Amino acid sequence: MSANQRPRPNPQSDDSESGDSGILNERILVLVFESINWDPHVLCLTACVNRKLRAIAKRLLWRKLCVSRAPRMIAALVNGAPNGRVGGGWNALAKLLFFCCGCDPTRNFWVNRASPGHFVKATRFSKTSGRSFLTKKCRGDLLYVSDPCEHPMGDNEEDLGVYRGVFRGFTKSKTRAYLIRRQVELEERIRCPYCGARVWSMTAAKLVPKSASRRLGSHEGRLEYFVCLNGHLYGTCWLARLSSDDEDDDYDEDDEDDEDEYYGNDAVHTKGGHDPVDETHES
Ligand SMILES: [Zn+2]
Ligand SMILES: [Zn+2]
Repeated sequence: MSANQRPRPNPQSDDSESGDSGILNERILVLVFESINWDPHVLCLTACVNRKLRAIAKRLLWRKLCVSRAPRMIAALVNGAPNGRVGGGWNALAKLLFFCCGCDPTRNFWVNRASPGHFVKATRFSKTSGRSFLTKKCRGDLLYVSDPCEHPMGDNEEDLGVYRGVFRGFTKSKTRAYLIRRQVELEERIRCPYCGARVWSMTAAKLVPKSASRRLGSHEGRLEYFVCLNGHLYGTCWLARLSSDDEDDDYDEDDEDDEDEYYGNDAVHTKGGHDPVDETHES
């Protein structure tokens, strides 16, 4: 046996280490998670139990959870990827579905204090919204973006909006090709809160179309967003207070296909008044 092969489980060892025990049987695990509606908190805990469960979660369970909560969005994201992979892995995508990353001040977006990330009960992701974040040249890309999550910042300040999204097949996207062709530099210190990869500031790259602020309900130039090497998008904006003049502000023609919008993870289990919004889990 070579040094890096692990010994077979000893028949007398604890059953939880054996491949045949119920908890490591993938079909049983899937049934258990189906019965609890793929509760992401339980899956976080399960993936922390040991290396085997972490590996099963990474290969199978996070994907199943994403598909169960956002079937249409996931089907669109893996279309054309024969092995059904997503950039950054399924655990990163699951985190993106369930976790608002909050906001830290950056060189292009100043806030007085950081606003922490948190679990979210429900998020609407939409490719119609995503299209508003693509410049004309990059409109062929498929991008889903969430509605902004509102973070109150105090009485005298506007609310902060925090949003997130994901590209389909980012490695082959026009957005990535454009960033590389223009030799836009990756940010020095900032890392993607979902997968840990390096990011481009779309603000620094001057790739923020006017439609993005309109879509968010922000004013032009009062937002920033980043895209990571794996195609996750996240960002912040100041949410404009509505005046009567703003209310019938017309959106662009893209709103016609709003029926394509998709409600994501709107079924997070909450038991006994337990509120997932106040928790921050590592996933
Ligand atoms: Zn939030
Ligand atoms: Zn990422």
